[in-house]
Amino acid sequence: MEIVVSGTRPTGHIHLGNYFGAVKNFVELQHEAQCFFFVADYHSLTTHPNPDDLHDNVRIILSEYLACGLDPEKSTVYVQSDIPEVAELYLILNMFAHKGELERATTFKDKVAKQEKNINAGLLTYPVLQAADIVIHKALKVPVGKDQEQHLEMARTFVNRFNHTFGVDYFPEPQAFSYSKELIKVPGLDGASKMSKSAGEQNTISFYEDEKTIRKKIMRAVTDSGPTQPNSTPPQPIENLFNLMALVSTDDVIAHFKQAYADCSIRYGDLKKQLAEDVVAFTTPFKEKIEAIYHDDALIKRVTAEGAAKARASAQQTLRDVREIIGIRPF
Ligand code: ADP
Repeated sequence: MEIVVSGTRPTGHIHLGNYFGAVKNFVELQHEAQCFFFVADYHSLTTHPNPDDLHDNVRIILSEYLACGLDPEKSTVYVQSDIPEVAELYLILNMFAHKGELERATTFKDKVAKQEKNINAGLLTYPVLQAADIVIHKALKVPVGKDQEQHLEMARTFVNRFNHTFGVDYFPEPQAFSYSKELIKVPGLDGASKMSKSAGEQNTISFYEDEKTIRKKIMRAVTDSGPTQPNSTPPQPIENLFNLMALVSTDDVIAHFKQAYADCSIRYGDLKKQLAEDVVAFTTPFKEKIEAIYHDDALIKRVTAEGAAKARASAQQTLRDVREIIGIRPF
């Protein structure tokens, strides 16, 4: 069975893009592979989050992932910082990461541009921590987006250097996991970009949001003045609304509005109202589940403790081997 690892930083809430583009796939993957899913709280330290916020955000992400269907019975769901072996492996792998290549990482260059007052070493070595997260379970497959492919390449470089330096064939090269089906790209509400937190609050729809906010956001979504020629191709902002509908509405509803667009009788207000209705119907059960889990202390404690125990067993074995290989041995 393939070993798959994926982490999420505890910032913000899961939006429809995260759900359809990532989490839903993880939920399905649990049946096919041995999965490790973790909340990457060490990773979020690069921006010095407020400690209370950090703690609460870990709880939020856990609640949201569990509500979406990650099953701690099937997968190992854990908090990164519960596995101190990750930090030790990160330290060791840092010896195999070269300054030049870290500086050339696109994500590092972006960060340097964005937070020029806090370019700490943690930002520079972010890909090393990611490599540690992956190889600590000797994972072979990592479900990553396009933006993360460079980091995966770096992880391969670090572990190959490690293997080469000690003349071992210990770490397997982690590869991008490719889904057998086409990945969905969820559009945002701004008419242009994909749904993303970085495109602003108004561009995303999260599960945690209340009905009123969701309706308001959708009613404000960008449109145009309407089709003037029968059977024309909708421009991007309208296409985006149809694509959102494809995720949450019934075939009949979609067919109805497509027909209305084709014969130029469409009223965008009606389309948005229906879309808002269907999004709310879709998100409400998730929201209710998220809230129940978030407030269930016993559940959160049990899931994190069991996840940590399972993840540590795998991590400790790796660290025992690595220490032996590099010569850190008991007397
Ligand atoms: P954001 O862009 O809002 O910061 P993240 O980068 O944290 O979101 O996204 C985490 C994962 O969710 C990504 O690796 C990607 O697989 C998925 N994802 C995010 N936004 C979308 C989207 N609009 N469509 C499809 N998948 C998405």
